[in-house]
Amino acid sequence: MQLCRFNEGRLGVVQGAQVRDVTEALDELPAYRYPLPGFDPLVAHLGEVMATARQLLPTAKVLALDEIDLLAPVANPGKIIAAPVNYLKHLAEAREDAEIHHRNQVGEIQRVGLFLKATSSLVGPSQGVALKHLDRRNDHEAEVVVVIGKEGRDIPAARAAEYIAGYCVGLDMTTRGPEERSLRKSIDTYSVLGPWLTTADEVPSDNGLGFSLKVNGEVRQQANTRDLVLGIPALIEMASSFYTLYPGDLLYTGTPEGVGPVHPGDVIDVAVEGLGAMQVQVRAA
Ligand code: MN
Repeated sequence: MQLCRFNEGRLGVVQGAQVRDVTEALDELPAYRYPLPGFDPLVAHLGEVMATARQLLPTAKVLALDEIDLLAPVANPGKIIAAPVNYLKHLAEAREDAEIHHRNQVGEIQRVGLFLKATSSLVGPSQGVALKHLDRRNDHEAEVVVVIGKEGRDIPAARAAEYIAGYCVGLDMTTRGPEERSLRKSIDTYSVLGPWLTTADEVPSDNGLGFSLKVNGEVRQQANTRDLVLGIPALIEMASSFYTLYPGDLLYTGTPEGVGPVHPGDVIDVAVEGLGAMQVQVRAA
């Protein structure tokens, strides 16, 4: 199933160029009171929500996909985990280009591990990217994003698939500079997630996913997740050896070569095989 969030927090099932409004399925979620849980309630109850959504489908209101505003498919992730330099050709380009590395040591992911992005940086495709620090390079990074489906710690790579709810298309926007990654990549709107959540059962696990990014129609990045240095199971093993993973946690798996600057007025298109395509407008903050 492909589940989207749209307009004022509505829930939809994507079918081709149409969306069926199944917002009533959110009634499956418990009525939480303070203190709220530190995980995403929709992903934590995905099975029940999907079952109810299926029942609602035949009579659900139908909307055109191009007439709705897409929000981040996961509204309340407890954390946004991200993999630095996880494609060899991007590692090479980062080490060669002083405007990317800024004298930061660019190490192999096996040594430098993962980083976190602030959850307040998360937006959906319709919200666009608002650039800050316009005197610096602000780069696009197209990434495949894993949505964690259930709580787990010390998960061995061989069992990682059990912990995946689904996948999304992501943009890990980045202001270049000497500061820590988590600061430069946590600016409001610098984590784009879209266009919808494709549940894991609909994604082939073994052949890799091809993806591409265009700026103003020009191809800038083109890659396949089979070229990840640390594949998705290894990333889940590494992350969960440090902290507990919860339903709705997001894992940005890393960007391939071809990163480059964007400017106010640019339009970014990112597409991942089987996960859909999203268009994101760039503006000044
Ligand atoms: Mn990245």
